Amino acid sequence: MESTSLQSYKPKIISEQRRKIEDLCRDLIVNNDHIHVVEQRLRQAIDKGLGKESHAVASVKCYSTYVRHLPTGEEKGQFLALDLGGTNFRVLLVDIGENKQFNMQSKIFAIPQHVMIGTGEELFDHIATCLKEFMVEHNLESTKLPLGFTFSFPCKQLGLAEGRLTTWTKGFKCSGVEGEDVVRLLQEALKRVGEHNIEVCAILNDTTGCLMSCAWKEPKCRIGLIVGTGTNACYLEDIENVELWDGDSGEPRHVIVNTEWGGFGDNSELDFIRTKWDEAVDEGSLNPGKQTFEKMISGMYMGELTRQVLVDMIWEGLIFQEKDTDKLFEWGQFLTKYVSEIESDMVGDFTRARKVLEELGIKDPSDEDMSAMRYICELVSRRAGFMASAGITALLKKMDYHDVVVAIDGSVFRYHPHFPNIMRSRISQLMGIDYKFDLMLSTDGSGRGAALVAAVLTNQEQQRKQ
Ligand code: BGC
Ligand code: MG
Repeated sequence: MESTSLQSYKPKIISEQRRKIEDLCRDLIVNNDHIHVVEQRLRQAIDKGLGKESHAVASVKCYSTYVRHLPTGEEKGQFLALDLGGTNFRVLLVDIGENKQFNMQSKIFAIPQHVMIGTGEELFDHIATCLKEFMVEHNLESTKLPLGFTFSFPCKQLGLAEGRLTTWTKGFKCSGVEGEDVVRLLQEALKRVGEHNIEVCAILNDTTGCLMSCAWKEPKCRIGLIVGTGTNACYLEDIENVELWDGDSGEPRHVIVNTEWGGFGDNSELDFIRTKWDEAVDEGSLNPGKQTFEKMISGMYMGELTRQVLVDMIWEGLIFQEKDTDKLFEWGQFLTKYVSEIESDMVGDFTRARKVLEELGIKDPSDEDMSAMRYICELVSRRAGFMASAGITALLKKMDYHDVVVAIDGSVFRYHPHFPNIMRSRISQLMGIDYKFDLMLSTDGSGRGAALVAAVLTNQEQQRKQ
């Protein structure tokens, strides 16, 4: 078993308690053999998703996005973008001028918890109202503008501007939306609030936005990855491999495929490495039995997973003995950003970790407790990084290209201090030292990416008319 190569802190003297903790947490360690199996099974699941006969039962759906043209860098125009999918919702006004001049104004709106789990009508009315407010603030009421809608949930797309929500993920659960075309729902809400100048010309997944935004500057970019509240990846696939392709078969002969890999494991593919803590997280979630891979990787669950392990260690009397740990016993109280903060401390230093424990009301923890807590955080985040790396490896191996750039965004990738390094080293290990690839932080996929999809479309339409 290898696990500790990246681990940054080990106490010099291993106490009996620490030994027991390491023993009890062993299931969280994924070794190279496990990772190979994950990668192979994911590749099979992707093939199932792409296959005509197997698609319906596949855990990784591989939806075609209908986006076939990557940006050339020549795109121009003014566009609106909506970004819905995490905790916040954003409206953006994007201007792309000559020579990649790029200007963006945006506003963040909160989505109240009751709206996230209310009716679909309430949700879309809220979005439309915010959009209208934004138009007024920017004096755009009488301007006709194309809008790209970044909707970061699994959608079966039927065209560039038509997408049916398969199932809600990440804490959303609005009634009356699953199975419906979300573009239509948005357009109807816009009508209800009296907004008639906006033309929703594309719906896209955040992974697509991420890829497009990066490809605008870097032509070698062929994969888009999100490790944030949720996780997912998209990649450029040959049309002949997309058995359900129903668009035209002209050039270019490829299309961006939204894998929806968060659902990997929903057909038991990951049971061999799932732990009792993964099961607990799943059972307490809004969507039990779904998004198995996502629940082992992404930010919505990483903190809770860590909390589940910590609570078990408290029950065993191995950590925070005789401390007031009441708050830690409440669901959701251990935030994913705590994991990032705790792992940001220098080796042997616990400054940030102490602050975290203060927030949790745990007073005067010992260094040994701090070290054990960090160890548990590392196990959870390392495993997440390994799993995401197995995913990227599966995609790289499927593609014929060498020298691929992977565009990445999301809070975990951005803010966890070691995640990019973990992924870089793990992918090169899995691909072999001779394989060239690069991971690139993609900025503002949901805004710029959405605008670029809209721009590529507008350009095509203009060309057709000429
Ligand atoms: C959604 C994906 C999305 C990902 C990252 C998942 O829960 O199903 O559509 O791309 O989160 O935001
Ligand atoms: Mg997002």
